[in-house]
Amino acid sequence: MTLEQEFIGRNIEKLNEKIRIAASKSGRQPDDITVIGVSKTVGADRISKAIQAGLFDFGENKVQELVNKYETIGSACRWHMVGHLQTNKVKYIIDKIDLIHSVDSIRLAKEIDRQASKVGIKSNILVQVNIADEESKFGIGADETITFIKKIAEYDNIYIKGLMTIAPYSENPEDVRWVFKALKKLFIDISRENTDNISMDYLSMGMSNDFELAIEEGSNMVRIGTAIFGKRDYMV
Ligand SMILES: *Cc1c(COP(=O)(O)O)cnc(C)c1O
Repeated sequence: MTLEQEFIGRNIEKLNEKIRIAASKSGRQPDDITVIGVSKTVGADRISKAIQAGLFDFGENKVQELVNKYETIGSACRWHMVGHLQTNKVKYIIDKIDLIHSVDSIRLAKEIDRQASKVGIKSNILVQVNIADEESKFGIGADETITFIKKIAEYDNIYIKGLMTIAPYSENPEDVRWVFKALKKLFIDISRENTDNISMDYLSMGMSNDFELAIEEGSNMVRIGTAIFGKRDYMV
C-alpha cells in the first residue's frame, strides 16, 4: 500500500467516524448519509485510491476536468456536478452525471431537459439555494425556491431530487447552523407540496469545515474535498 493510499484511507475512516457521531445526534444511521468526495484538482489516480478505500461518489465543479477524469475512470463510480454549470456545456456531461447539484436558473433547467431528452434519459437534479443570500454565490433565493421548483417540474426529462446549498465560510461553523436549519425547513415545505416530478430525497449540505453541523441539521449528502484528499493544489 502506498503512502497516498494510506493517507486517503485513514482520512475516510476518520470522516466516517465523525459522520457516525453526527448522524446519531440526529437519530439517524451513518448509511443514511451519502459522502461525495469532491475531487476537483485531484487526479484520476488518487480518485481510484479513494474508490479502493470504499468511496463511490465523486463531485467535480468543472466540466472539462470531469470529462477528462471520466475518460479514465468511467462508471467505476458515480459522478456529481457540484459547481456552477454553464448552459452551453450541459451536452458534454449529460450522459455521465448521476446528479447535478447546481441548477439555479430556468434556462439551465430547460437545457438539461433538452439534452436529457436527446440521449433518452431523465436527468436527476438538485436546486441550488442561496440561503445566506451571498452576492458571491450562485443559487435561487430562498423566497423564490418553491415558485422556481414548480416551474421546472414541468420539464419531463428532469427529475427534481432535492436541494443543495453552500454555507458561507466561517471560522466557527456554529455561525452558519441557521443556514442548514433554513434549508431543511424549505426541504420539508417542498416535500409537503407533493408535486409530480419532485421527490425530495437529497439534502446536499455540508463541506469539510461544517459537515457535522449540517448532518445534525438533517443533511443526507455531504460534499467533502479537503478532509479526504488534503489541501488542494491548484497548480496541478
Ligand atoms: C470544493 C467544494 C466542496 C468541498 O470543499 P472542502 O472544503 O474541500 O470540503 C464542496 N462543495 C462544493 C460546491 C465545492 O465547490
